[in-house]
Amino acid sequence: MSEDVQTLRDVIRAVGAALRRDEQYLCDLDAAVGDGDHGLTMVRCWDLVEREADRGGGASVSEILERAGRAVLTAGGGATGPLLGTALMAAAATSADAPGPDRAAAMLVAAASEVSRRGGALAGDRTRVDALAPAAVVALQAAASGAPVAEVVAVAAQVAEDAARATAEYVARVGRAARLGERALGHPDPGAVSVAIALRAAAECLRDSAKSVGEEAP
Ligand SMILES: [Mg+2]
Repeated sequence: MSEDVQTLRDVIRAVGAALRRDEQYLCDLDAAVGDGDHGLTMVRCWDLVEREADRGGGASVSEILERAGRAVLTAGGGATGPLLGTALMAAAATSADAPGPDRAAAMLVAAASEVSRRGGALAGDRTRVDALAPAAVVALQAAASGAPVAEVVAVAAQVAEDAARATAEYVARVGRAARLGERALGHPDPGAVSVAIALRAAAECLRDSAKSVGEEAP
């Protein structure tokens, strides 16, 4: 197994662990603005992603991401499953086989853009795009300035966390929370929060693996 595939599997497991840890929290956030299943749906979808990563079988980074995206896309899961599947497929198409800082940023940009297109959501609509889009922009900037991949993902995670928090002040225009209108005010969008949780877990995993091979951590 290539080092990149091993890193991808480690990141996927780390994200899964974080989503399971925060499953109830994500459900509680969703209960305030929707049907209360976001944590459960994310964990169910990520089980499929982990299954594809574990099957490995000599697959490349892009093949694993594509298989995972396809598995999630075809498994249903309300709005979350199709959008997560779309994000993974977009990342797969952009990943190349040895994702460094530039590719990692490009994967985030592709994921943000495809999720926005498929969900019909723009920045400010109180969806996961509010976390993904600014995270992708800072990732591009960090990669362009020569940051290592762990730092690219770390700055993206930081911006996603701030952006997810800020969605509490937005009025939804699309998605289920749109029906709630101003009643959603004060509650962050669960999809934006799960993006931030996933990016933070990925960043910490990449930082640890950079340390373990003796590279400079961010
Ligand atoms: Mg829901």
